[in-house]
Amino acid sequence: MYINPSLQAKLEDSERMLKALLNNLDGMVYCCLYDAKWTMVFVGNGCKQLTGYDAQSLVSNQDISFEAITFPEDRKRVRKVIGDAISTGRHFSVEYRIVHADGGIRWVLERGCPLYNDAGEVEAIEGFTQDITQRRESEIAAREAEERYRSIFENALEGIYQTSPDGHYLNFNPALARIYGYDSAVDLVLGITDIRKQLYVDPFKRDEFVRLMTAHGQVKNFEALVHRKNGDVIWISENAREVKDRDGKLMFYEGTVEDITDRKNYEQQIEYQATHDALTGLPNRTLLADRLQQYIGMAERYSSKVAVAFIDLDQFKLINDSMGHHAGDELLKIMAARLSECVRDSDTVVRLGGDEFVLLLTGLHKIEDVSEGMQRVLASVADPCLIEGREFVVSCSIGISIYPDDARDTTTLLKYADSAMYKSKQSGRNTFQFYTDELNQRLMERLDMEYRLRQALENDEFLLHYQPKLAFANGEVCGAEALIRWQPAGESMVSPASFIPVAEETGLIEEIGQWVLRTACSRAVELNARLGRELPVAVNVSPRQFRHSGLVGMVRSVLKDSGLNPACLELEITESSLVHDTGSFIKTLHELKALGVKLAIDDFGTGYSSMAYLKDFPVDRLKIDQVFVSRLEAEPSNIAILKAIVALGHSLGMKVIAEGVETAYQQAFLLGIGCDELQGYFFSKPLSTEAFETFLVAGPSR
Ligand code: C2E
Ligand code: MG
Ligand code: MG
Repeated sequence: MYINPSLQAKLEDSERMLKALLNNLDGMVYCCLYDAKWTMVFVGNGCKQLTGYDAQSLVSNQDISFEAITFPEDRKRVRKVIGDAISTGRHFSVEYRIVHADGGIRWVLERGCPLYNDAGEVEAIEGFTQDITQRRESEIAAREAEERYRSIFENALEGIYQTSPDGHYLNFNPALARIYGYDSAVDLVLGITDIRKQLYVDPFKRDEFVRLMTAHGQVKNFEALVHRKNGDVIWISENAREVKDRDGKLMFYEGTVEDITDRKNYEQQIEYQATHDALTGLPNRTLLADRLQQYIGMAERYSSKVAVAFIDLDQFKLINDSMGHHAGDELLKIMAARLSECVRDSDTVVRLGGDEFVLLLTGLHKIEDVSEGMQRVLASVADPCLIEGREFVVSCSIGISIYPDDARDTTTLLKYADSAMYKSKQSGRNTFQFYTDELNQRLMERLDMEYRLRQALENDEFLLHYQPKLAFANGEVCGAEALIRWQPAGESMVSPASFIPVAEETGLIEEIGQWVLRTACSRAVELNARLGRELPVAVNVSPRQFRHSGLVGMVRSVLKDSGLNPACLELEITESSLVHDTGSFIKTLHELKALGVKLAIDDFGTGYSSMAYLKDFPVDRLKIDQVFVSRLEAEPSNIAILKAIVALGHSLGMKVIAEGVETAYQQAFLLGIGCDELQGYFFSKPLSTEAFETFLVAGPSR
């Protein structure tokens, strides 16, 4: 055969090119027989890299066969795939493992086709085998990762979902079905076809969700009430985000759902406890201002009025003290229920504490409506109530302020209702009072007085006057009562009757009282030294001072600092101070007595102290209130009372002194019934320190 040399050269060239190509391919080109060992006829150089064996060692199974290289477990499958291709005359492609010469396993992809002879029999198989170990490993890793994530998705306690923006479930985990009370995923998909209408208790919540999504691309801790399948309502919290495609088009929402019903219930319980009174279950002080503010807002919109009614039970303390706290609690519960019955559902009853309640009445148009309501409250409270087998009748005092007539803000409305309540207490109890301008005026004066009293303490504007006491036995001065006076710079003297009650209410009495005691004791020491005698001085102790736990210590230290003989100090305690909680007051009286001081019950006969306790009071004197003395001539019935008090005092071993003695008749009468001492304008008015000293030296001017 002649071949053109140039063609010959070209042919040799292309064969070399083909060989180079086959040998440099990343993979193994092969041609093998369809026999038990896949006996190789031709193997490309890529064999070395793929299997670790040289191409020659495989050709004709010189050192090893390809069957032996094939991973034993995969051999059958490979043979089947190739067998099928042969029987159908198609290409095949199969992935399997081989055992590399280094002992390691490699994944390969083999693609090839059978070659047939003219008789249609398989002559050989040709193909190309590539190392795909890396691809397989990353596929396996990806699959494992996906399984892991799926397991998290399937087993999560939180519900996880994807929903279409128009409210259908696209995908979700079993927890979501469980949270919403569905037996299975199918159950849920069939059950909820419109999330907005079927899931959310308030469909507008879904609108809010979508609005937030559109605005921020996500929602965080979105809390909502939703229906469960069985109709129960639960609280959920959602975290979700928008998922968009490459073009920025919204595909779906993806998020998580947590059932927070327990937490919500707990929070509500805590909030309830913080805003409600444990005993009566009524809203408490914390809720009062909030509610009132709410009502004011409503009244503004509808041009209506709100009434604030302060209610104080008149005899609560008495029942609580005499019957014990248990009975007191019962009474409060009964009253709370009655008050709640007197108002409409839209109104509010608040327990402020102790025996104080506040009613907030809404939607009023006429004040007359309030009066009718208050009549009902008075009647309902005054209905007898049975506690521990005994019947009690209590009454209450009510003070009312009206929005917007009296004030427009909560603080002022409450303050005004409170002061109106005091007024109704003063005007005889079991009644109600509306707040008035006159009350307002008094309130302002009180505030002003409080401010000025503080200034007075700082500026040393207080002084003491002394009112001498006369002993009937020898007609001599037997002591004096120190009475405070307030002399504001450039103004006239202020009577204690007008400022002591304010000081008492505001607590300033503690400081003022201490000033009085210190001044009275140190002056007494000076005066007694000058006169060379031991004249006792009496100092008034206000109810609040008396209840204060520091009183005994204060008196002790004043006595020590001043050096006054304790026997020269008499403390006058108003009878009304001793009415409540008698047990603890007796203890205080004993402690004071143990200091060596004298004790007197001031204004005796007006404070309703229990006669049963009187014998236990370690006191030296009863000081008859001046009302009995001053009305002696006008009301002869006072004769009997005065006689009885003198007899009572003497039989208990006490001295009896009468105050407010203004006439000779009164003095003579008191002497006649055996009264021991007296004090009054007839003998002497309260005097300045100097005038008192002169009085002592020179005797009464008359
Ligand atoms: P009180 O302790 O019952 O004092 C007697 C009051 O009667 C004094 O009024 C006195 O001036 C007045 N008085 C005395 N004799 C007569 C009289 O013949 N006729 C009339 N009409 N009144 C007479 P004052 O000084 O205005 O004190 C009023 C009240 O103020 C005292 O009543 C006492 O409760 C309180 N008070 C006075 N000083 C002090 C004090 O230093 N501390 C405290 N806590 N209260 C004081
Ligand atoms: Mg007094
Ligand atoms: Mg008095």
